[in-house]
Amino acid sequence: MSQSWEVIQEGLFHYPLDPGQKLALIANRCTGCGKAFFPRRSLCPHCFEEGVLEDISLDHRGIIYASTVVHIPSPAGIKAPYAYGYVQIPKNQIRIFALFTGADPFTFKPGQEVELVVEPVSENHQGQDIIGYKFKPIT
Ligand SMILES: [Zn+2]
Repeated sequence: MSQSWEVIQEGLFHYPLDPGQKLALIANRCTGCGKAFFPRRSLCPHCFEEGVLEDISLDHRGIIYASTVVHIPSPAGIKAPYAYGYVQIPKNQIRIFALFTGADPFTFKPGQEVELVVEPVSENHQGQDIIGYKFKPIT
């Protein structure tokens, strides 16, 4: 049986989840300097040492650092208007790029608490969902 969806990019998050597995973005962290990266890097740009990066699961809760509303559909098929920006993950001391969902795109503000969700972001040429990660307000 073939699957009826695809993920936006391999290796960003586990999908679908195994029983008991928690939804999380997969980042990695340099054991040399402690810096975390998402998407994962193969080399720490600060240490330039191979083999010092270890995979980590990011905390699902974050705080919006910056938000922008886009008024034209994205080339990847995301319907406008939509909001995206940067989310700070306090627990992992990392700031990541993300789409926002779950509210009027114009209402996302810096300082707002959000949490990770995985849902369709657009469709591929076969009309199948492309699954991506987003952050939605914590209510
Ligand atoms: Zn490093």
